[in-house]
This record gives sequence, structure tokens and C-alpha cells, in this order.
Amino acid sequence: MMPKILLVEDERSIAEGLKVSLESEGFQVGWAKDGNEALAAWDRTRPDLIVLDLMLPGMSGTEVCRTIRARSDVPIIMLTARDTEVDRVVGLEIGADDYLTKPFSTRELIARIRAILRRAPLGSTPATDEPPVEACGVRVDRSRHEVTVDSRTIELPPKEFELLAVLVEYAGRVLTRNQLIDEVWGSDYVGDTKTLDVHVRRLRGRIEADPQHPQRIRTVRGVGYRFADHLGEEGGAT
Ligand code: CA
Repeated sequence: MMPKILLVEDERSIAEGLKVSLESEGFQVGWAKDGNEALAAWDRTRPDLIVLDLMLPGMSGTEVCRTIRARSDVPIIMLTARDTEVDRVVGLEIGADDYLTKPFSTRELIARIRAILRRAPLGSTPATDEPPVEACGVRVDRSRHEVTVDSRTIELPPKEFELLAVLVEYAGRVLTRNQLIDEVWGSDYVGDTKTLDVHVRRLRGRIEADPQHPQRIRTVRGVGYRFADHLGEEGGAT
């Protein structure tokens, strides 16, 4: 089955060019030119991935992203006009899986789409029979796609889920940024490590009692992160 992509872009010339390129790569492409059309098309066609421009007339790309993310884990790649930190961080914080700064090459977009779709097989979470992993009151059950923190179930977007699963699985060990990116985004990931840091920050907001002083996900300065073996370890700051 051809993967379905919903392209949300108000500039017709860009949209048409991308549509042709993506179709020639074997994708089925729907086009929405603003936020309202995007939400309607998402509802109607249930695409496998959304390519979403940040700058749209009317409802903004961030709003579209938030709205869809509140209802679905569909992968979203944001297109941003300026290469500023703000765009990147905003894009990722509202739940996008990845972002590209304009101008970008179609080849790069296609590479990112393929990488994301490889990690998130069409229509479903892959069934696994891996046993749950647990550390510090956090339990991750990949086969049931379930996370509990101190016995309370929480919902996580796919990338945060995967990141937490890896951290907990290797609790007590330092994982480098590159190891984490390889595990969660795949070794063909072409973005920068900011993405990882943003996801860590979001995870801390969900699983730490005080995200400013994380006890579970520890930063190992200049190296990466380590999930704590047990709460109340030495050196709790950041
Ligand atoms: Ca635009």
C-alpha cells in the first residue's frame, strides 16, 4: 500500500512541486492550503504522515499541529521559514516529530519522510513481546504501549515513548546523545541534537516531580543522559 501523505502548504507553487516529487517516489499525496482544510483532510483521509508548513493564513501551523497532536500520534514534519531556534523549539514542543527549514531539498524531505515511516510502520504500533522495563517508579511496557509513573498511567507521543523506553532499559548507564538519537530516530537521522534535548525536556515535564531538578533523567554534562537507578541519588541538580 502506498503511504498517504498530507501536505499542508499555502504556496501553490511549492505545494505542486512537492506533490509531484513525492508522488514520483511512490507516495499518495493530498494537499491542503490552510489549517481548516488540513483538519478536514486529516479527518477524512487519515494520512500516514503530515508535512506541515508553519506559516499559514488563518489558523497557524502550530495550532494545526497542536490540534492534530491532541487527537493522534500521526508523524508530523514541520516546515519553517526561518532557521531560528525559536522555530525549531516551537515546532518540536508542540509535538512535531521533525522539522525542515526552508529552503530545503526535496531529497532531504523524502529522506526524513522515509526515516520516520520506517520507525512508525503504517497504521499501527508494531507488536512486540518484549517484557516491560522498570526503574525509579517508571515502568515502560512496549508490547502494550503503556507507561506508568508511580503506578499512574501517562500518555506519551511516539518519540517520547521510545526515548523513555531506551533510557529506562539502560537505567544506571550513561547514554551518549548519538546513541540515543540512533536508538530513537534511527542512524540515518539527519537533524541536530537539539531535537533530543527538546524531547528530554518534554519527558521531564511529564515524569519528574520537579522538572527543574530532575531526579530520574540526569544530564551527564558534555556526554548525554542517564536514567537514575533509584531516586535520591547524589548530585540531583540537572
Ligand atoms: Ca506558507
